[in-house]
Amino acid sequence: MLDPQRRSVHRSMVVVGGGIAGISAAVEAAEAGYEVTIVERNPYLGGRVAQLNKYFPKLCAPTCGLEINFQRIKKNPRIRFLTMAEVESISGRPGEFDITVKQRPRYVNDRCTSCDACTEACTQTRPDAYNMGMGTTKAIYLPHAMAFPMKYVIDDNACRPEACGKCVNACKYGAIDLAMPARSIHLKAGAVIMATGWDPYDASRIDNLGFGHSPDIVTNIMMERLTAPNGPTGGHLVRPSDGRAVKRIAFVQCAGSRDALHLGYCSAICCMASLKQASYVIERFPDAEVTIFYIDLRAPGGYDAFSRKIQASGNVRLINGKVAKIVETAGDLVVEAEDIQAQAKRRVAVDMVVLASGMASALARGKPPANCAVDDDSFVVADGTMPGIFAAGCARSPGDVSAAVQDATAAVMQAIGAIQTAARG
Ligand SMILES: Cc1cc2nc3c(=O)[nH]c(=O)nc-3n(C[C@H](O)[C@H](O)[C@H](O)COP(=O)(O)OP(=O)(O)OC[C@H]3O[C@@H](n4cnc5c(N)ncnc54)[C@H](O)[C@@H]3O)c2cc1C
Ligand code: SF4
Ligand code: SF4
Repeated sequence: MLDPQRRSVHRSMVVVGGGIAGISAAVEAAEAGYEVTIVERNPYLGGRVAQLNKYFPKLCAPTCGLEINFQRIKKNPRIRFLTMAEVESISGRPGEFDITVKQRPRYVNDRCTSCDACTEACTQTRPDAYNMGMGTTKAIYLPHAMAFPMKYVIDDNACRPEACGKCVNACKYGAIDLAMPARSIHLKAGAVIMATGWDPYDASRIDNLGFGHSPDIVTNIMMERLTAPNGPTGGHLVRPSDGRAVKRIAFVQCAGSRDALHLGYCSAICCMASLKQASYVIERFPDAEVTIFYIDLRAPGGYDAFSRKIQASGNVRLINGKVAKIVETAGDLVVEAEDIQAQAKRRVAVDMVVLASGMASALARGKPPANCAVDDDSFVVADGTMPGIFAAGCARSPGDVSAAVQDATAAVMQAIGAIQTAARG
């Protein structure tokens, strides 16, 4: 018999962000019996992990972790996902949230077979966002070779459909609809999980590190793409400026992080990311010379063994000091820094510099939806001040994949608790 005291609540959740935290949360909630909608801004799921070459500590390909989750999403009828979509507003209370989502048009429908005939016909190009602007794609493009969903998309900033339409004629499957409108979608949910993740801090704002002045000064996420087999160079580690092999490389830690002028906090994983990227260089060039300039090297979450192994390779030199500037001299980049331990100035000539740029909250791009509280750095406040709204992964604070996955489980448990409490009235 129904208990008259029990409120009727939505046994469903909306997960904002389809990175590793969001998809882990969605899968867990659905497997616990809840209906879930993932709202993802990109045309594909997977978030930043999909852009990594390998991920620590095991250095496996990101596809191995993501693919399992994509299969679980495909097979679970309780999970629905919206790509190219963002939450406009959240109102209501635990058990009874109303969420409005704005979905941009993809211009390509479910009939797309990924045959690629349209890109041959298309004459317009756009910067390749997946490869961090290194290279271009056509205006109609597949976001990346392992994209989920495996469906093409048109970038309407690059395309002039009214004057063109060549791709429509090239597509045998009737998959392109240049008149596809934007949609406003209304969802109801018992709880919301924010899993909006991170963006690389804009390194061009750090005046002394020369990002934007030389193409051979790159950020750490660009380094992931430069070494990935599906990256702009096919995984060959060469300088963007002239194609020279990168055998001497410098990593500049805390590029933007732990700096009151930029990000006042430690981004938690960039020391580990640089050590991992040192291993990318050494595996290609056994005689590589790697110099890491650091304030203090942080290996959180039991990563000491990984850190020690890379440092013991014999190719890695650690210099404890802040980089003053990076200059171009006779085809090399010269990194100038103060070596605190030796109490001396260092000038190190290298082929390429990687800035270990910090992780900024993706919510810093714009105003978060009402009801969602963020701190001064735009990370979601997870202190119980927003009943029914929870956060997981880098939406909450910078961290690694395993922390994001654990966080997702915790957020789902809290969301289930909130829905059950609401149901009891
Ligand atoms: C250079 C570098 C290397 C790294 N290497 C490793 C490694 O080897 N091993 C490891 O464990 N960790 C590594 N990390 C950390 C790893 O990238 C993060 O732990 C992971 O991305 C966190 O996942 P997430 O889902 O929280 O965020 P994200 O991966 O950022 O996913 C968030 C998702 O939310 C979407 N989104 C954002 N805003 C909105 C919005 N308003 N509406 C809808 N959708 C939105 C985004 O498009 C994205 O798909 C590395 C980080 C860096 C900087
Ligand atoms: S949109 Fe059409 S032509 Fe382009 S990949 Fe899809 S099916 Fe092929
Ligand atoms: S309509 Fe747009 S996407 Fe299609 S071929 Fe022309 S420019 Fe390319």
